[in-house]
Amino acid sequence: MTASPENGTSRPAGASSALVRSLRALVSAERVLTRHQDLIVYSYDASFLTRLKPGLPDVVVQPQTTAEVAAVVAAAAEHGVPVTPRGAGTAQTGGPVPARGGVVLDLSRMNRVLETDLDNLQVIVEPGVVHATLNAALEPQGFFFPPDPGSSQMCTIGGMVAGNTSGMRAVKYGATAEYVLGLEVVLADGTVITTGGLRSRALKSVSGYDLTRLFVGSEGTLGVITRIRLKVIPVPERRGVVMAAFCSIEAAGETVIDVFRARLRPAAIEIMDRTACRAAMLHVPGLVLPQGEGVLFFQVDGPPPAVTYEAEKLAAVCRRRANHVEWAEDPARVNALWQARAVVGAASGRVREEATRVCAGEDICVPIIQVPAALAAIQEISRRHGFPILTYGHIGDGNLHAAPLIDMRDLAEVDRAHQAADEIHRLALRINGTTTAEHGVGLVRAAYMDEEHGPALGVMRAIKKALDPAGIMNPGKMGLGREGRG
Ligand SMILES: Cc1cc2nc3c(=O)[nH]c(=O)nc-3n(C[C@H](O)[C@H](O)[C@H](O)COP(=O)(O)OP(=O)(O)OC[C@H]3O[C@@H](n4cnc5c(N)ncnc54)[C@H](O)[C@@H]3O)c2cc1C
Repeated sequence: MTASPENGTSRPAGASSALVRSLRALVSAERVLTRHQDLIVYSYDASFLTRLKPGLPDVVVQPQTTAEVAAVVAAAAEHGVPVTPRGAGTAQTGGPVPARGGVVLDLSRMNRVLETDLDNLQVIVEPGVVHATLNAALEPQGFFFPPDPGSSQMCTIGGMVAGNTSGMRAVKYGATAEYVLGLEVVLADGTVITTGGLRSRALKSVSGYDLTRLFVGSEGTLGVITRIRLKVIPVPERRGVVMAAFCSIEAAGETVIDVFRARLRPAAIEIMDRTACRAAMLHVPGLVLPQGEGVLFFQVDGPPPAVTYEAEKLAAVCRRRANHVEWAEDPARVNALWQARAVVGAASGRVREEATRVCAGEDICVPIIQVPAALAAIQEISRRHGFPILTYGHIGDGNLHAAPLIDMRDLAEVDRAHQAADEIHRLALRINGTTTAEHGVGLVRAAYMDEEHGPALGVMRAIKKALDPAGIMNPGKMGLGREGRG
């Protein structure tokens, strides 16, 4: 083993030239990349960690078929070299970046929709299909795959399944796991299995252990997903939006509880704090948001009379505590009201000149009743460390995206950003939440796995060992190996 600066882990000496030669024989040579300028593209994702410490692979392979994936994994296993699957690399966790060098499997070329079986409410896709591309193909036919990550235009269905991704509509429609009916997976020795039934087109099954669920959210640590049987559902006829501004974050949090108590179930309930609203207004000239410490955005959907009924009732519930409420179901107005929420991720850097928004401590989830306390604590962390942290997120699930805005040239500030992220993660655990609701563990949250799961982490490690005894599948991630604890 040689010491490596990458992600602070150690890595074996690079993939041998013998392995690269055999990869070139298995997959056509132009899809086996070894030039430094090619490898560098695969050395980071959207995380703060890999921005600071990229993790270079030794070789990147771009397979086009399951047979190629199986052959590459078998060859890597024979040489004892790690394999890291990668979709679009939009993760904020270091997950698709190799912690110990080896082979990166870039699955973006396996991007075909293989079957569209709408009579049976399902499609079969390869892992590299981009989320927005799938829904653009389905929606004119009246169907959709409901999870809606902010990275929709980039992220792959394979990455979504591997991370159990969700997004704004999870309040009503749940996360990716709800829609995965079956998978084809290449295991760590190159064996190919099908979960959910070899030939099944059933929408439900309790036959055997639920292996599909085991691979969903396993972040590439148990195998490579090469085919996905996905449930799709009819697109709602209409969508509406309600926007409400509150003088205090507490009033916004209480309103979310009022909404559920009023037996309403919007598709999405989003919050933006005062700084997030300022960022959106700086980003979009002409955008005016009502004054308040917090703004809630609700999305409702369904048949037109139901949308009107639900939006009116939501507006009435909001008026009890809000200083400003408006709602719309006309598509142009709906888009105008939703615009602030749609741009906030991209807009976040605007509130501080020369600052970079870093993805650190960005995905906690707390019990809904604790959201106001969590937002206040994040503000206190921001004041103490001396940089803005704006917060927005899926308050309907208690999922908060905190966005520290730091000057990357100031190394002391970079250090304090790490401390702030650690404090945010520990805050979530202290108030009975989780360190990650949808972005995943990868490298950046591996250190919290023990505290979050206790003895259950031992069971996860036993599963990992059973399926990948040599530990070649995405090693160093999720706290599953000894090296993942730190
Ligand atoms: C601007 C932005 C907005 C985002 N918004 C959201 C959001 O709203 N909700 C949310 O949940 N996430 C969000 N994310 C995080 C990220 O986009 C999602 O987790 C996404 O699903 C990752 O897909 P990907 O194709 O980029 O996967 P990658 O980043 O390439 O990989 C993610 C993980 O999956 C593994 N993996 C990828 N493909 C496979 C495969 N075929 N087989 C086995 N393992 C595989 C990788 O090893 C890695 O561990 C956002 C990210 C950005 C940059």
